[in-house]
Amino acid sequence: MKPIEDPADDLRVTEPKTWAAGLPGVQHALGYSLSQTSPRRTALTLLNLNQAGGIDCPGCAWPENKKRHTNEYCENGAKHVNDEATSRRITAEFFAEHSVADLDAHSDMWLNQQGRLTEPMLKRAGATHYEPVGWDEALGLVAAELRGLDSPDEAMFYTSGRVSNEAAFLLQLFVRAYGTNNLPDCSNMCHESSGDALGATLGTGKGTVSLDDIHAADLIFVVGQNPGTNHPRMLSALEETKRNGGKIIAVNPLPEAGLIRFKNPQRPRGIVGRGTKIADQFLQIRPGGDLALFQLLNRLLLEAEDAAPGTVLDHDFLDQHAIGLDELRAHLAGLTWDEVFAATGLAREEIEQTLAMVLEARSVIVCWAMGLTQHKHGVPTIREIANFLLLRGNIGRPGAGVCPVRGHSNVQGDRTMGIWERPPDAFLDALGAEFGFEPPREHGVDSVAGVRAMREGRAKVFVGVGGNFVRAMSDSDVTEEALRSCRLTVQVSTKLNRSHTVCGETALILPTLSRSEVDRQAGGVQVVTVEDSMSQVHASRGKLEPASPHLLSEVAIISRLARRTLEPNPRIDWAGFEADYGRIRDHIARVVPGFDDFNAKIADGAGFRLPTPVADRVFRTPSGKAVLTCNELEWLRVPPGHLVLQTMRSHDQWNTVPYSGNDRYRGIHDARRVVMVNPEDLAELGLADRSLVDVVSVWTDGTERRAPGFRVVGYPAARGSAAAYYPEANVLVPLDSVADGSNTPTSKGVIVRLEPVPEPVPEPAGAVTDGTAVR
Ligand code: SF4
Repeated sequence: MKPIEDPADDLRVTEPKTWAAGLPGVQHALGYSLSQTSPRRTALTLLNLNQAGGIDCPGCAWPENKKRHTNEYCENGAKHVNDEATSRRITAEFFAEHSVADLDAHSDMWLNQQGRLTEPMLKRAGATHYEPVGWDEALGLVAAELRGLDSPDEAMFYTSGRVSNEAAFLLQLFVRAYGTNNLPDCSNMCHESSGDALGATLGTGKGTVSLDDIHAADLIFVVGQNPGTNHPRMLSALEETKRNGGKIIAVNPLPEAGLIRFKNPQRPRGIVGRGTKIADQFLQIRPGGDLALFQLLNRLLLEAEDAAPGTVLDHDFLDQHAIGLDELRAHLAGLTWDEVFAATGLAREEIEQTLAMVLEARSVIVCWAMGLTQHKHGVPTIREIANFLLLRGNIGRPGAGVCPVRGHSNVQGDRTMGIWERPPDAFLDALGAEFGFEPPREHGVDSVAGVRAMREGRAKVFVGVGGNFVRAMSDSDVTEEALRSCRLTVQVSTKLNRSHTVCGETALILPTLSRSEVDRQAGGVQVVTVEDSMSQVHASRGKLEPASPHLLSEVAIISRLARRTLEPNPRIDWAGFEADYGRIRDHIARVVPGFDDFNAKIADGAGFRLPTPVADRVFRTPSGKAVLTCNELEWLRVPPGHLVLQTMRSHDQWNTVPYSGNDRYRGIHDARRVVMVNPEDLAELGLADRSLVDVVSVWTDGTERRAPGFRVVGYPAARGSAAAYYPEANVLVPLDSVADGSNTPTSKGVIVRLEPVPEPVPEPAGAVTDGTAVR
């Protein structure tokens, strides 16, 4: 694998921050925006971001407040939207100057910083360079390749979570009319475990709470999640919870600045004051110990009920709406404190304090993200969280429920629109009836199975609509080899990324509009829609002139490709869809439950909330009731001399794309090949702070993976744990290491050893460049 950035010789380390946002957040947002584009364009994007009738922020899937501020965005949203609104352009001359091999030798950061793609580019088989190609030739080439395959299952169509509802619906329609369910998406790598666990227990794959519930909760658990970096406006919501008297418990292996204290730049006390303390309790848990923690809490709730019958459990709720209580009680009877200590690293007093807070709270919400889903036992962990909430009736009433927080702005909507390799029959029945064809019923490949299929030659064409598949996936070397073995790779993209340099024999780059750009079609200016983490659907309308006259929207690209590939079907008006996206929404209204009167419901800009039956205590499980489940206790057993490593984003990074080498909340500057380890563990391992190591992952099948040249940094991580940035550390996670049930790569549970390696050059003295004390 190519190095992603310059060696870590410029590493500078400062004290981790103990608060997030405030004035520095505003300064960094504006600073990065103005480094990318003009003050006028910056103002145009930011003043329209997350406003009714404006641009939906593509930064993450956190919902908007009903009452919106003039500046309704966070540092990361501002950086992300202006990273894409950049004034820099990539032309045909750029591709003539740089061969694919040359581009591949550059870092991800460098690729991203080159600017917006402006015209379709083709790398012909055997060629060293991309060359310009017309849209007709480009789409004709893809269509010919697809029509020439022995089976539709030899192609796969990956969707990134930024793709709009309209484009996602058309893509799955095209792919199913073509004849396959090979529709992997980025959800396979993030919240698939949530969907699996919640589907089995509550009968929904989605969260059950609204923003009002977050504000009204008595107690919120934030588990395996770093909102200060990944969904920063969630901190405003948690601040509101605190103002209303609610409490917050953070459960995480790393202390994160945003969960310690939040300085809300929208409030005077966030600018000149101390801000708001967020977490009332911080449980610094070992990676993967969450299942044991929630099992013990459930056992303690049952014991408290036994001690004072009728005071702890919500018997009315359990009697009417749940099954499995007796089985759960019997199952948890065997759990011991020692197992929980070993799995979590927590002390008895900490857990008893948590229990006291739970018993005091009338309404409880549990929020989580990848810190739970990307473990081998991620699915049972989330099922246990459902048990925890069900026992006290914390589902389907105000201020209570489950809240999986999603990172990509429309990843939930894409799944709602049918981007799924395992579509339910009811969806396929409705799709087939609407468009007069029989959709394929055999399940397709997800992201992991897709890499296997490419690697083994069973998939020959890869089409990626948005995203950066090669960098998002685990086992980087294997994923690269798989993509390079394809006959054709096609990327629909706004900017250059690694998935254009790691490509098939023939490769196409199809440049598309960003969400911030005006989308003009034959039927006039179009809007698209998205669905956030709380099932709110609303429109997004671009405001900037497109980066190039040669760009097509995603809807246009999919419609034209479908027309070139498929036999005509009088019930599918691809040209009409391209001209007027309202026609797509009319079909969605008839195929997807909850979207009736779709066009009318988005007309006012505020949008609408999809039906959330669980919020009304309607459980669409086979029994019609919520299911308390018995989950075998699992945790990672770590051999002596080893650590459990998690991969994570830096603060100056959006998904796979780093904007700089800085992670200022954690005090890491000008380097990304770093591995953070508790100083006491470093001492036990005999490693000096800042020493150079190879990180070597060790797997039960005896295989090892190596990520060379990382600099060790002493950091207040949970004992026995380590953390490194993704995608640099993705190479450590084998393709076959996946969460049971969901097939999600286990990027948060990697057992590693750190092997010292000789210093290539003497370490430079750390220079103080901004007045911050260097540790
Ligand atoms: S919280 Fe998420 S959606 Fe909201 S402005 Fe920030 S990045 Fe954008």
